[in-house]
Amino acid sequence: MPIFIAIDLGAGSGRLIAGVFREERLSLEEVHRFENPGTDLPGGSFWNVVGLFREIQEGLRIAAGRYGDEIVAIGIDTWGCDFALLDEAGRLLGLPHQYRDPRHEGMAEVMHARMPEAIVYQHTGITTQFYNSSLHLLAENQKPSPALVGASALLFVPDLLSYWLCGSAAIERTVASTSQLLDPATGDWAWEVIDAMGLPKAIFGHLVDPGTPLGVLRDDVQRVTGLGPVRVVASASHDTAAAVAGIPMENDERLWLSSGTWSIMGIETDAPIRSREAFDARCCNELGVDQSVRFLKNIAGLWLIQECRRQWALEGESLSYAELAKLADAAEPFQAFIDPDDPIFASPGNMPERIREYCRRRQQPVPEDKGQILRIASESLALKYRVVLDRFRQLTGKSFTRLHAGGGGIQNETLMQATADACQLEIIAGPVEATSCGNLIVQMVATGHLKSLAEGRALLRRSFDFPIYQPHRPELWEGPLERFRKHLAS
Ligand code: ADP
Repeated sequence: MPIFIAIDLGAGSGRLIAGVFREERLSLEEVHRFENPGTDLPGGSFWNVVGLFREIQEGLRIAAGRYGDEIVAIGIDTWGCDFALLDEAGRLLGLPHQYRDPRHEGMAEVMHARMPEAIVYQHTGITTQFYNSSLHLLAENQKPSPALVGASALLFVPDLLSYWLCGSAAIERTVASTSQLLDPATGDWAWEVIDAMGLPKAIFGHLVDPGTPLGVLRDDVQRVTGLGPVRVVASASHDTAAAVAGIPMENDERLWLSSGTWSIMGIETDAPIRSREAFDARCCNELGVDQSVRFLKNIAGLWLIQECRRQWALEGESLSYAELAKLADAAEPFQAFIDPDDPIFASPGNMPERIREYCRRRQQPVPEDKGQILRIASESLALKYRVVLDRFRQLTGKSFTRLHAGGGGIQNETLMQATADACQLEIIAGPVEATSCGNLIVQMVATGHLKSLAEGRALLRRSFDFPIYQPHRPELWEGPLERFRKHLAS
């Protein structure tokens, strides 16, 4: 029974998931879970990548005990943007910084003085955001930092961890495309941007497509884990690329929503969209599996609800997500609206009070109980999806009739129904574990167990449940949509 291991690392925690391929079905088993706390040290905010690697080895040791030599391959996906620098002998030159490290401050201005943002967008299809690797590299170059001066190679976090697993270094395209230094049309580095920034060209090495076999586990890793020479595959290494691969879109509209702590809505396209309108709408073109482009927009997500839940737990009331959804269902609809992407909601804190404060400041009814707060958050998220969907309609000329949603957030049935109503779309929800599923099917194609991504998506359709949400009474949402638009910050 072939087993594939997906190593899925988020900016808060990581997991190893085993994909069991049996009787033409895929099932998932969690093998190991661990924290991934970023650490603030003198000189910046860092990732403990050595600690992460040790946890990965521990997870592989557990997997070896459970599945032995049925394990066929291993693939890693992580959050985007963060990178490591290595010397010519492949040694790590310092811990990777976190994307929220303040070294990016002031760098957008420096970058845009050298090349205006609209031109950078022409080359890379990516708007400037504080987390882009471009700004963080520019900060290193301004000093210049000893790490950058001594660097022979740059690897993104999943590339680094794969390198440590198998000894073979390559830069995988989906994660590289989050850097704002890659041309999504050619799949090569955006050399004009790299030149204009004055970055050392030599560190931008060999790029590979998702699904490229990298090698087998190093002897050291085999000894520590008890595994044999298992193959390591560069999967869809950016977690959103893995999630999109794992959302089995059936029709040619290919409209998707990756719903978790954050929401990302996008279209899977064959070519980047780099029009002035796309730039003005702050849409990004990242790369996907099978030469696809993920034309996308980041939107706030269930972060709002997650933070409400955390706050109420601090106040002594621990509620499950199902209980929260029930409270929202029972509350009066369309009392007030928030822009989920307003900066007031961006950082951790007392989210219920911030929602009340937002309503107070904008002369809206101030929600009094938990149900009202949750209802406002859910309806506003659904309406924000609608606003983004309308932008996609304008930008592509497509009408869209169906949305494929994946990720943990699809378990929030209230939000899914609200999204169907607000967007006037049919929603096909699944799988919850889209990221691991995408990571796994890319490995299965790479090792010849599946013929194509399409076959992998068909396997997912056979293996999991996909609840469908139909828009009920979309006309009820038209008035609220107009009221909501008045509260949009961006
Ligand atoms: P991440 O993006 O951090 O990986 P997930 O994809 O795991 O997050 O999704 C986490 C979100 O899913 C939570 O914030 C929560 O709102 C939602 N969620 C998880 N479980 C449930 C549930 N049983 N019912 C409703 N919502 C849920």
